[in-house]
Amino acid sequence: MQVDYIIVGLGLAGLAFTKELDKNNQSYVVFEDNSQNSSIVAGGMYNPVILKRFTPVWNAVGQLKIALPFYKELEIQFNKKYDYPVDIYRIFKSVEEQNNWFFACDKPSLSNYMIPKIVKENFYGIKADYGYGKLINTGRIDTKRLLNDYRNLLIEKGIFKNESFKYSELSISEEKIRYKNIKASKIVFCEGFGMKQNPFFNELPMQEAKGELITIYAPDLNIDFLIKAPVFVLPLGNNHYRVGATFNWRDKSKLPTEDGKKELVEKLESFITVPYEIVEHSAGIRPTIKDRRPIVGKHFQYKNLAILNGLGTRGVMIAPTVAKELYNHLEKGSELDKEISVTRFY
Ligand SMILES: Cc1cc2nc3c(=O)[nH]c(=O)nc-3n(C[C@H](O)[C@H](O)[C@H](O)COP(=O)(O)OP(=O)(O)OC[C@H]3O[C@@H](n4cnc5c(N)ncnc54)[C@H](O)[C@@H]3O)c2cc1C
Repeated sequence: MQVDYIIVGLGLAGLAFTKELDKNNQSYVVFEDNSQNSSIVAGGMYNPVILKRFTPVWNAVGQLKIALPFYKELEIQFNKKYDYPVDIYRIFKSVEEQNNWFFACDKPSLSNYMIPKIVKENFYGIKADYGYGKLINTGRIDTKRLLNDYRNLLIEKGIFKNESFKYSELSISEEKIRYKNIKASKIVFCEGFGMKQNPFFNELPMQEAKGELITIYAPDLNIDFLIKAPVFVLPLGNNHYRVGATFNWRDKSKLPTEDGKKELVEKLESFITVPYEIVEHSAGIRPTIKDRRPIVGKHFQYKNLAILNGLGTRGVMIAPTVAKELYNHLEKGSELDKEISVTRFY
């Protein structure tokens, strides 16, 4: 088999990069071994405001301009819905937070998202003594459904290998790379936290953060917006809500834990008063880099090996932009922004 690219990993990074390859008529084969599941369990939210401090997320407005049409195209391609617009209501903890909200609303980059007033409405089953700050033009991508459909498409096309990529079997020369019976011009590693096993890139400073989520059934909680308090409560439809997420920098397994569940339940019950039942509990590892920026670019020695990783807590918004930038870098020789280039660590 001869292809232009081998791709290792089909999370949001791998998906976004293969879409660039499709657009440019490049051939590829994807390896995926289900060893990580960050993209599948993710809340899938896109929102350009950091909800702790009401500050802008790095480059988010520009990323959204690329991401929203990207997911729209996928909806058209598969004739399915993946993008669910959903407003966010941030519960204020104090008068000081209310004041900070108004201050942030004045920032031009956030004025399309933050509504400059305090929502005082009472929603049944929710404690919010200081009211809410409301965000609009935000939403959720159903990443699980999208990745499942995308994987099935690659299987149908015969370009999906459901197996672990074995780094020791890769042979590299100036012009070509070879892996088992596959010859390719380039390989792009999109392994998320799996990067730690990759001998070509495992020295990069990943500070992965495990996250756990629960899904609850709460028939009395009648809301169609996301509530952000110590945890978020995200409506999924049919009285189901996703609640998350924890941050744990020590536990490296992708398994859900009793401690994680306990933390989520305690935080949830600090502002929700209706009965609920936990119907699902999941976990994944966010591939976060020390400086909280993606890592994109070529291996320092082998120019036909590249990495697309470090999407951290915001893969939904970042992946389409960085995939495009990596493609243009590899195929058109364009310079990568210093902030995202892997060369900042060489
Ligand atoms: C609990 C939680 C909540 C989150 N919520 C949000 C959110 O609301 N919004 C948002 O934007 N982001 C969210 N994120 C972050 C988001 O999930 C990540 O930024 C993104 O999914 C990372 O995508 P990725 O493709 O780089 O990595 P991954 O999704 O981890 O994909 C890497 C893939 O590579 C495969 N792989 C690895 N090694 C190999 C190998 N050797 N051979 C074959 N395959 C291999 C893995 O199986 C995996 O499928 C959340 C993450 C978590 C854990």
